[in-house]
Amino acid sequence: MNSENISDSQPKGIIIAIDGPAGAGKSTTAKIVAARLGYQYLDTGAMYRALTFYSLTNNIPASETEKLTQIASDMIIEFETTEELNKVYLNSQDITSEIRTPEVTRAVSEISAIKGVRRAMVAKQRKIGKAGSIVAEGRDTTTIVFPDAELKIYLDASVEQRAERRLLDMSKQGVNTTLKEQKDDLIRRDNFDSHREHSPLTKSPDAMIVDTTRLTIEEQVDEIISKVNSVIKK
Ligand code: C5P
Repeated sequence: MNSENISDSQPKGIIIAIDGPAGAGKSTTAKIVAARLGYQYLDTGAMYRALTFYSLTNNIPASETEKLTQIASDMIIEFETTEELNKVYLNSQDITSEIRTPEVTRAVSEISAIKGVRRAMVAKQRKIGKAGSIVAEGRDTTTIVFPDAELKIYLDASVEQRAERRLLDMSKQGVNTTLKEQKDDLIRRDNFDSHREHSPLTKSPDAMIVDTTRLTIEEQVDEIISKVNSVIKK
């Protein structure tokens, strides 16, 4: 059977786009929702982190916008995802843990604000999303990357709750940090991501807002799956 026959006989699944500030639970939730539906999970933040890791490793400052734009368009980013893991490869090198370091987290917002970098990343993300059946998450997936997504979610939570979650994540990774440091970092990054010129983080008017402050991951997943079911039934 060739690929044309496959796409003719199997209905294409929907695009689910999830945006929100750092630490709202987007990646954990999106990964589980994707696994439950048998969809692909697309972590757009990991792509900006991969470029940031490359720029730090090769001493390319954010001011070198043309060079970084070229690298962003040439780089090959691949994912290997299951419900438990999300491996990220940059030009075949496994950089899964390297992109989660505090150094990358500190530098990523400035790199991802570069217009050409965003253009290159959005092109890659749309290519991945072309086949449908995808759960994408980031800052501009509901507004810029997939403006026609069948389901758009804005995942939010109080900054205190998000900082506590980050602190827990960091301690699991063996990183020594404090609640105050995490809170300050989230506020700084949210502020940068929401006020940049190109593709800032905004609540898309047609996105459903899910406040996860008092929800467990299980409850967040159930809420999104029930929204998916109501969209698919329409
Ligand atoms: O989601 P995560 O925290 O890994 O994203 C890291 C950073 O990448 C964000 O703080 C933001 O600066 C950038 N990003 C972005 N657009 C996206 C996803 C992430 O600018 N779609």
